[in-house]
Amino acid sequence: MAETEQVTCKCMACGHEYTDTWSKDEDKERTCPIPECRSNSIRVMRQKGKKE
Ligand SMILES: [Zn+2]
Repeated sequence: MAETEQVTCKCMACGHEYTDTWSKDEDKERTCPIPECRSNSIRVMRQKGKKE
């Protein structure tokens, strides 16, 4: 069963931060949602409160 959680994603190119979902079964490629940026240098910051 796929479990997803909310994560904060930050674009390393323009600095934009946004919330996305993360699943340990799915390592999807992320791109910056800013149309002029579209960088794939996205850093995922998992939120606290959950242990592996
Ligand atoms: Zn960006």
